[in-house]
Amino acid sequence: MIADVSGHRPALHLENVRRRYGGIVAVRSLNLSLAQGEFLTFLGPSGSGKTTTLRMIGGFEQPDAGSIWIKGERVDHLPPHRRDIATIFQAGALFPHKTVAENIAYGLRMRGLQKPEITARVREVLAVVRLSGFEERYPNQLSGGQKQRVALARSMAVRPAILLFDEPLSALDLSLRLQLRSEIKRLHEEHGFSAIYVTHDQSEAMALSSRIVIMNRGGIEQVDTPLGISRAPASEFVYNFIGESCCMPLVASGGEVRDRQGGAIDLKLHTPPREGEWRLYLRPSRIKMAAAAEACENSLEVQVGFVEFLGESYRYHLRAGALEFFCDNPAPHMPRSEIA
Ligand code: ADP
Ligand code: MG
Repeated sequence: MIADVSGHRPALHLENVRRRYGGIVAVRSLNLSLAQGEFLTFLGPSGSGKTTTLRMIGGFEQPDAGSIWIKGERVDHLPPHRRDIATIFQAGALFPHKTVAENIAYGLRMRGLQKPEITARVREVLAVVRLSGFEERYPNQLSGGQKQRVALARSMAVRPAILLFDEPLSALDLSLRLQLRSEIKRLHEEHGFSAIYVTHDQSEAMALSSRIVIMNRGGIEQVDTPLGISRAPASEFVYNFIGESCCMPLVASGGEVRDRQGGAIDLKLHTPPREGEWRLYLRPSRIKMAAAAEACENSLEVQVGFVEFLGESYRYHLRAGALEFFCDNPAPHMPRSEIA
């Protein structure tokens, strides 16, 4: 039995969970706890082990080693239907020949609920996802977004200890994705369920999560709040993966800074780099452009290459020696002369 110092059992606990496929390590020794009511997101590039982890939690995949606990009960030897969870997949996976009401009722009947209770719960969850009145529709009479809301209602109806989401919005177009994302956020705020969410979309992870787990090559790079991840990335990988970044490979030698081809770079830093090779990273949104004559604390003299209009801002592509990078400026006004 696993409990924290206050005696509360986490909704989910993973201990040294591992999974390989032949020679490929899909998930390497994962340790993690999900508090009750927490919304935890696995975020990472394709192939980083997110789905494999989710499938092991759901019971669709066996770990090679380690243990999985739901509310203090060890479950890694149990089949999916014996675990107190419900999964929402990318494409809702509704039964096509059952109505909306029958789709939701199915899992409740499986769990042995009686008819009046089932009817009440179907009505309640349809109201929760704002689909009251859709009881008798068939899946092919629903839009993509409505289908996903039914899938969500169906999962919530069984009141599982944990809701698992595997990229539930990735098959929808942008406006619907944003709308449903807010809907999931609202439902979590109002109902406080515990959730594990998998996505490769960082804005989705940022908007929804209590905490984010950044995955890379089957391992955890960082676990933190969305703000913590974006303000204090724990590794070079996380810095590059979250938000946009520009990389400047530099060599500092004898008080001078050069690009890796040996070209001189007019870089003045508040804290000059120590001797050696460096990769200096910048957020393009944090770079400020100014005329060469203007004094700045940290400055780099550059030439402007070309400019892209991005709708809300202008992206300036810049050069300094062999370095190429870009920055975003809200306005297009730039002096044509040298820019620092
Ligand atoms: P993600 O969901 O982050 O894209 P996955 O968990 O699907 O990543 O995959 C992690 C790694 O395991 C990848 O290298 C993938 O190719 C491999 N993998 C996943 N499922 C299988 C499988 N059934 N057979 C062989 N390799 C697999
Ligand atoms: Mg996946």
